[in-house]
Amino acid sequence: MSARAVQRLTLENNLRMALKNNEFVLYYQPQVTAQEQNITGVEALIRWQHPELGLIPPSDFIPLLEETGLIIEVGDWIMETACQQLKVWVQAGYTDLSMSINVSGHQFHNQKFYSRMVELTEKHGITASQIELEITESILMDKQKKTLENINKLDLYGFRIAIDDFGTGYSSLSYLQRFRVDTLKIDRSFISDIIRNPDDAAITSAVIAMAHSLKLNIVAEGVETPQQLSFLQQQNCQLIQGYFFSHPLNAKDMTQLLSNGIQ
Ligand code: C2E
Ligand code: CA
Ligand code: CA
Repeated sequence: MSARAVQRLTLENNLRMALKNNEFVLYYQPQVTAQEQNITGVEALIRWQHPELGLIPPSDFIPLLEETGLIIEVGDWIMETACQQLKVWVQAGYTDLSMSINVSGHQFHNQKFYSRMVELTEKHGITASQIELEITESILMDKQKKTLENINKLDLYGFRIAIDDFGTGYSSLSYLQRFRVDTLKIDRSFISDIIRNPDDAAITSAVIAMAHSLKLNIVAEGVETPQQLSFLQQQNCQLIQGYFFSHPLNAKDMTQLLSNGIQ
């Protein structure tokens, strides 16, 4: 085997061990209303708490999880952990909090995905409408007929669907009508330059206006500065996510933030 193949196999084994040893953790980043600055939901973001290397970001291991198919098992762990945590927060009194879960293409197209989501909400006593599944435009464009069926089934049961990284993929806008999508998340790459780059500002305003007329929720991602926030407030963007309000936090710190609110 080539050195590269050996390295890959080692990493794959490490990822299997990580799942077995419970080394994955979910962090949570709040979604905050632009006007009143209330936390209405959180997005679950996975990290690998490596015993020697420390906290490893998802960009370092999600691609391999996808390539090896391990994303199905890890994805199941993510969905279950997010549901468990949501239940804890609901029981603590945050009854309307929503939980956004990132779903990879493999997971979404897996035959058991729908039934497993239903099973998990029932097991943990969660209202489906409190779960928002984040998928990318590329998932929408892939296996279109199956995807349409999948989304419609999920929608009928009450789950919400968000299009992640909106504006970076190739989805044709007509899909927004065909698929029962609830939320658009404007990609961070547009937000980061809205103040300096008139083109990014124009795209962002147009996406927000389009979401309003299609009656879709809109979330701006990667908001880091008060200037970006005030631009988005002026455009009537509903929800804000980004370092300006909070980095992703572990469950304990997120619980604290829920209790203190955004200061
Ligand atoms: P994403 O879904 O677009 O998640 C948003 C990413 O932006 C997160 O990176 C978050 O920490 C980061 N972020 C949030 N606010 C800011 C900000 O103000 N500035 C900047 N520069 N970054 C910000 P993270 O946690 O490293 O996740 C990266 C990607 O990995 C995610 O992008 C998502 O595609 C994937 N990912 C993370 N968790 C999961 C998961 O549980 N399942 C799956 N399938 N993918 C996941
Ligand atoms: Ca996401
Ligand atoms: Ca995103």
